[in-house]
Amino acid sequence: MKKSYLLLLLSLLLPMLAGAQAVAIDRVNPTNWWVGMKNPSVQLLIHGPGAGTLAYTISYPGVKLVKTNTVENPNYAFLDLVIAPTAKPGKVQIVGKKGSQTVAHSWEMLARNNSPKGQGVTAADFIYLAIPDRFANGDPSNDKFADMRDPNLDRANPFFRHGGDLQGAAQRIPYLKDLGVTAVWFTPVLENNQPLTNEGGTMRASYHGYGFTDQYNVDRRLGGNAAYKSYVQQAHAAGLKVVQDAVYNHVGNTHWILQDLPMKSWLHQWPTYTNTTYRYTPITDPHAAQIDRKITLDGWFVPFLPDLNQQNPYVANYLIENAIWSVENFGVDAWRIDTYLYNDQPFMNRCNAALLAEYPRIHIFGESAVTNVVDQAYYTRNKIDFPFKSNQPGGLDFVLEGAMLAGLKEAGTPAATGWDGGPQHLYQTLAQDVVYQDPTKLVTFLDNHDHDRYLSVIGDDLDKYKMGLTWLLTTRGIPSMYYGTEILMKNFKDPTDAEVRRDFPGGWPGDKEDKFTAAGRTARENEAFDFVKKLATYRRGHPVLHDGKLMQYLPENGLYVYFRYDATGTVMVASNGTDKPATLPTARFSERLSGFTKARNVMTGESLGNLATLQLPAKTAVVLELGK
Ligand code: CA
Repeated sequence: MKKSYLLLLLSLLLPMLAGAQAVAIDRVNPTNWWVGMKNPSVQLLIHGPGAGTLAYTISYPGVKLVKTNTVENPNYAFLDLVIAPTAKPGKVQIVGKKGSQTVAHSWEMLARNNSPKGQGVTAADFIYLAIPDRFANGDPSNDKFADMRDPNLDRANPFFRHGGDLQGAAQRIPYLKDLGVTAVWFTPVLENNQPLTNEGGTMRASYHGYGFTDQYNVDRRLGGNAAYKSYVQQAHAAGLKVVQDAVYNHVGNTHWILQDLPMKSWLHQWPTYTNTTYRYTPITDPHAAQIDRKITLDGWFVPFLPDLNQQNPYVANYLIENAIWSVENFGVDAWRIDTYLYNDQPFMNRCNAALLAEYPRIHIFGESAVTNVVDQAYYTRNKIDFPFKSNQPGGLDFVLEGAMLAGLKEAGTPAATGWDGGPQHLYQTLAQDVVYQDPTKLVTFLDNHDHDRYLSVIGDDLDKYKMGLTWLLTTRGIPSMYYGTEILMKNFKDPTDAEVRRDFPGGWPGDKEDKFTAAGRTARENEAFDFVKKLATYRRGHPVLHDGKLMQYLPENGLYVYFRYDATGTVMVASNGTDKPATLPTARFSERLSGFTKARNVMTGESLGNLATLQLPAKTAVVLELGK
């Protein structure tokens, strides 16, 4: 003991006697890398007292230190490495010297494994979106930690953490399989070691996950990196894909890097606090003033989520490498990007290209909450002559969400038969698909964690509920559904969005109700669950609903007919948006009906031997599999 104290004392004193400050390396990001990546370059962020004052060497076969970059803050160095294809897995010693001082950090290069990763999601999939804190609690021992900035747990408080985690979600994989889901998207799982923040007068936890404090750790309260890796493995074993929710625009204000900024330009700085206007129009407007664009893009999302400056090359490298590290390390299949339109778009293109270069099948779909097709097209591969061309393969289809909800809200009212009313909303939106390179890569939805819940928007009407879900699961695109929709969870964001993020009943030990089981659900809830399950299961087994062409007919009198068709079959979907049963003559649809003599109602099993007219109940979408 005495000897070790003496050594410690000497190690502290000697540099001081030599007139030098003690130096150290306390973090290296990425925390590890792999041999055999397509891109041989990686830039290491090195942090520690005086880390930027060291002369670095790496002596490892196949690893070349090309350049050591120093920045404003002497506690950072950025090392540019090139890893030869011949390099072997192992521990790379990063050695830094300054005068008589030498520090070393062991940094691991792993072999790539063959487990599935970056499989992508396609129109063959059905995505389920859940908030891990609100879905299921499989490990009450990780609900809270006294050494975290927010040590609270309170299920009675809608703004606090509730204790849900990845182990709980893993236990519900069979439930999702039974429902017909093929992919799971969690709101972000990375560490949010943020304190409670005052939002509109109430203290709120970062339970939703959108305030990262360390991109290399999954939050301990969700189970940490090990639980996430395990979740992905269990999901893959069950045939479920996993979508990771990424955030590039901002980080939590207690992110470890922000405690000791590498340089001022790591963040978008303003003379006085400047919030984004949340207005997206100036980004695409050819007549826009630059200041309007700048405030939209560089203004902060909220005061406690500082805005990252992605035009800073070190920030860009940091975020891109973290994306690749996440896919390689955890094995996720697709990438959902938060607040996509607020990011620097050339940076987004670079990031998308880097992910696609390593994982050619990965799907990337960002959140651009716009209300018109032109703006939505800007953020995905499109056919419009914009001065900037996005390379994003997909995107969340906010415009179609709005159109479906508008059509459903008007269903059963006089507006449903109006010139622009009822199903015309859906029809007219899909008619603008010409702007996209591939609209089937858009992710479609009826609500999400930021919106009023679907069932409440449509007036708690089970007929409308089924009609909207039928559209979602039979029109073009990659359908996604927000957790709880299948058990009729409802609510408006009144008074706050916490109301649409309630706990899934049965996800916690001791819950009075368990809606994960048929016995725990009411008859009406089982009707909803069974409806989703039946249609999702049919969809899964019928490629025509994934890749088949879409042909839609001009709606008339509130009646809307479309077909999905290909060499494997034809499915006809006929919707009656009015409040009265309708008899629909089909002569107008002969372009698609020709050659077919019978049909089977996919949901009821009923056989139709005569297709000359169709009987459509009020507020109903009928799904017919055509036969010869
Ligand atoms: Ca827990």
